[in-house]
Formats: sequence, structure tokens, C-alpha cells
Amino acid sequence: NILVEQTDPELWKAILAENARQEHHIELIASENYASPAVMAAQGSQLTNKYAEGYPGRRYYGGCEYVDVAEQLAIDRVKQLFGSDAANVQAHCGASANEAVFLAFLKPGDTIMGMSLAEGGHLTHGMPLNMSGKWFNVVSYGLDANEAIDYDAMERRAHETKPKLIIAGASAYSLHIDFERFAKVAKDVGALFMVDMAHYAGLIAAGIYPNPVPHADVVTSTTHKSLRGPRGGIILMKAEHEKAINSAIFPGLQGGPLMHVIAAKAVAFKEALEPGFKTYQQQVLKNAQIVAETLTQRGLRIVSGGTQSHVMLVDLRSKGITGKEAEAVLGSAHMTINKNAIPNDPEKPMVTSGVRIGTPALTTRGFKDEEARLTANLVADVLDNPRDAANIEAVRAKVHALTARFPVYK
Ligand code: PLP
Repeated sequence: NILVEQTDPELWKAILAENARQEHHIELIASENYASPAVMAAQGSQLTNKYAEGYPGRRYYGGCEYVDVAEQLAIDRVKQLFGSDAANVQAHCGASANEAVFLAFLKPGDTIMGMSLAEGGHLTHGMPLNMSGKWFNVVSYGLDANEAIDYDAMERRAHETKPKLIIAGASAYSLHIDFERFAKVAKDVGALFMVDMAHYAGLIAAGIYPNPVPHADVVTSTTHKSLRGPRGGIILMKAEHEKAINSAIFPGLQGGPLMHVIAAKAVAFKEALEPGFKTYQQQVLKNAQIVAETLTQRGLRIVSGGTQSHVMLVDLRSKGITGKEAEAVLGSAHMTINKNAIPNDPEKPMVTSGVRIGTPALTTRGFKDEEARLTANLVADVLDNPRDAANIEAVRAKVHALTARFPVYK
């Protein structure tokens, strides 16, 4: 790091400030985590220098014998972790992983079915401004009166519209997803079934959230959320789809793979195979449930009635504050959070009536039951009195006292 400081002091200042932010703030963004020093060291290694178009043993460049080892380790470990027949570890990110599935199996104009963004889905599952929404005819499903996925309506719509691809998976949905039911519907209507498990991947790897791999044709994921690896994507698939997916990633969508990132994925998968990862994920879930319970006691409503995962959506309307304002005031108190629309949100998407809260990052830094409860109480303290500067300052001091006891990178 001294080298960055000497070469580029201007950039170094920003890196140092970001490091300090990560140490001193409580990270509540559900899609973020702190990668281990070993993951970051692999990502910062000389493997960034190597071109390796193709796949292990079948490259278009010489000198690939060692990066082949790295990629094969990543493939073997991720297959073991999730129990999949085959894996592609080259997708640069979660969005590219999803695009590769579309490229492998669909043509523009085909019908796809995904969870609506407004009710918890991801933008790559058919949002009008995303490629998925522009190139395909999108049919959406959403939530029922209890704010659980409306499986009956999804099934009905699938029979009416005969999509070529059905996508399960979400960015803001706290409950278990019934992958088996989706798979049955897909089979009945002749659709391919894809699961985007990006949010839940870490919990799935630890066996505490349902594993979609036995039910889906293809499973995509990011590696940097609950799975706690480097920023990137993966695709798991049944053996019969391996060729189509691999050629959709390269040469279909990408050029040279990011071998340093693939090496870091290999490290993260090794960490996730260790017994301590299960203990970590159990605490992620427990912390999320403690936060949900505490916020409920403090007069907030948790969408879907609670959480069975690392994430929850909080309805802020009882406190008379919007998601936008809550994000800003919680930020001033050094708790990082993102505003998020709640089902049937009366506010605009840039304002919203909710926030999304997740526990992967705070659990990585060592927060257990007591600290999770304290964090939720600090969030509620801010929301009870959001326009009182003295209140925000008092909470910020408590946040700093707590984070000082749990350094992220020692
Ligand atoms: N899929 C889901 C369910 C996500 O929540 C996200 C990220 O927010 C993505 C895909 C996209 O991942 P990336 O940001 O790596 O492209």
C-alpha cells in the first residue's frame, strides 16, 4: 500500500478515507460484505497481468498453465460447495452472469418471467430500462396479500403466457423461495428454469437457506454479497447446459477472464467450505432475526412479517419519514443503509417508504446477538427523532464506540 501512496497520493487519500469509513460505520447494506485479507491479496496478485481467453486446458494464449490451476480450483470448489454438475467462474459480475444465460438460450422477442423489481426482484430480471426488459417480452410475478411470493398467480401467468425462461431470485425478499414449486411450473409450461441466488448464496452454501441447484437448469450468483468473496459472478448448471453457457460467456459476451478475480473466487470458495463459514452464516441469520424483532418492538413494520434470511425490508411510514430521508439521516449517524421501495409504495422510486437492511457485513466484523440488538435500537433511535442534530450526534458516538470494539481489518 505504501506503493500506492508514493505513486498516487491523491488516490491514496480516497482509499484511506474509504478504509476508515468501512471501519467506523456500521454497514447495513444487504448486498455488501467485507472480503477476507486472503481474498483481497489474491485479487491484488500478478494474475491480473495474464490473458487467458478460453477455459482451463483450452486457451487461446500461451503461458496459461498456472492460471489454469487457479481457475480449475475455483470451478472444483464451487461445484462442491453447491453440489452442481458444472460451473463457469468467469462472469465479471452478477448482471453478466444473467446476460450470459439469456444469450445462451433466448432470442430477442422471447417471453421471460421474473419477479417484479417493485416487489423485490432484480433489474436484470426484466426491468424496462435493462437489456432484459428491452430485448424480451417480460411477464412479472409479485407478492400476495401476506407479502409472500404469489405462487398461484405466478403459475397462472406462466400457463397463460408460456415463457421460455422463468427466473426465481430477488434482491429484496426476506423469506424462503420455494424453488421446487417454480421448477414444477417451469416443467409444466416447457420453460427453462433459472435461479439468481446472488443474495442468498452464502446462506445456501452453509445449508441454512434452500438450495436451488437440484431444481434449476441454471443458477447464477454474485460472489461478493453473503458469499463474501471478491466482486464477481458465477454460473452453475446441469451438465447438458455447460457448453451453451461457456460459449455464451466466451466468446459470446466477454473477452479475457479476470484471472486475479477468479483466483480470489477460489480463495473465497475454500473459506466457504470450512466449518467456520456455517457458524458465520447461522449468526447472519440470527442477527437478521434479532434486528427484525427489535425494530418491530420499536414500532416499525417488517415487510413479509419478518425474515428467514440475511435481509429485510422495513416499512417506515409509522415514523413519518421517507426512505430517502432515512438513508440520509442514518448515514449522518454513520450507519450505511439503502432506501428501498416497499410493496405498493406510494412514494417515487427515488424517494420510497422503506429501507433494506442486511446483516452479512456486521456479522463478519463479529457482531453477535447483543450487538445486533444494539444496532437495531440505534437505527430506531435515529428514526424516532430524525431531525434532531443532538440525537444524531449521540447515536453517532455510540456507533463509533461499538465499531471501535470490532475492527474489520486488524
Ligand atoms: N442479481 C441479484 C439478485 C442482485 O441482487 C444483483 C445485485 O444487486 C445482481 C444480480 C447484479 O450483480 P452485479 O451488481 O454484480 O452485476
